Amino acid sequence: MTPSRLERLHAALAAHELDALIVQGEANLRYLTGYTGSNGLALVGVDGGDRFFTDFRYASQIAEELDPAFESQIASGSGELVESLAAALGGGRVGFDDTTTTVRRRARLGELVDGRVEFVPAAGLVEALRAVKDEREIAAIAASAKLTDEIYEWLFAGGLGGRTERELAVALEHEMRLRGATGPSFPSIVAAGAHAALPHASPRDVAIEQGSLVTVDIGSRLDGYCSDCTRTVAVGEPGAHAREIYALVLAAQLEGLAAVRPGRSGREVDAQARKVIEDAGHGEHFGHGLGHGVGLEIHEAPRLTRTGGETELRAGNVVTVEPGVYLPGELGVRTEDLVVVREDGAQILSGFTKELLLVD
Ligand code: ZN
Ligand code: ZN
Repeated sequence: MTPSRLERLHAALAAHELDALIVQGEANLRYLTGYTGSNGLALVGVDGGDRFFTDFRYASQIAEELDPAFESQIASGSGELVESLAAALGGGRVGFDDTTTTVRRRARLGELVDGRVEFVPAAGLVEALRAVKDEREIAAIAASAKLTDEIYEWLFAGGLGGRTERELAVALEHEMRLRGATGPSFPSIVAAGAHAALPHASPRDVAIEQGSLVTVDIGSRLDGYCSDCTRTVAVGEPGAHAREIYALVLAAQLEGLAAVRPGRSGREVDAQARKVIEDAGHGEHFGHGLGHGVGLEIHEAPRLTRTGGETELRAGNVVTVEPGVYLPGELGVRTEDLVVVREDGAQILSGFTKELLLVD
């Protein structure tokens, strides 16, 4: 039998010589304990047991959701779970998430345990487990990706010309919800013409003109799992230069997809796709990383970037491959697919066409 998430975390604690680990953050808690509420903390491995802390507002929710492997404890006040957690700590080396623990909480913990515990920075242990998805998670992400494909069909069939970026973004998020999503997995991007030269452009109250390229970057959240897909389309004929840049980005994207396989680092995959754009003289116009992991959160491990991509890809990772070329004052093109890393390479979850579409 494959070890449970909790068993794998216990093994990670042993490997890091930790006696216990404080787990926080909605995605980590959901992954590990099943709890989907907002106020909670888990303490894994303390005295050989695993505890979960929340407040009275969530008492009935944990009765339904919490993995019975956790012993639950309800704090009386609505805020301070830290006191209950500190009371459960006997001693030893206790890992905490040094990237998200506030200075205030860290100081309070120190006061409460009064020197009997050695706190050890241990960010990323649950995140590392989350990076390798099981088939049930992959099915949830695939369903979210399919919903996003359907939104693209719907959006482009309705035409973009003459409508504003913001109107389109609002409408597509509404349509996502009508089709079952709890919402978008991040604020939708609809950016036309020169505005698309900003990779994270916010939709404006500006009508889309004929002859412009429009970059749409969207994802839905379905059953807790995110999807992420970018397509750039043309409203009417965009002209030769736009077509050339579109073809270049697509070539780089296909190269990136071909580079994805277990054992290769995110940095290597980024470099292989980036080379296509650099060789065409546009290296300086591709200013972001090639991709990122997607799961319960829209940006998670592993990273496919030049600077943070040293981790080797593993089968079960779900990542984006999203090169772009951004020409200030003129246009932007990005093409993004969501893929599963399989033993034999990338399995693409994004199904919407990557031919340059000319829409109304
Ligand atoms: Zn995206
Ligand atoms: Zn992305």
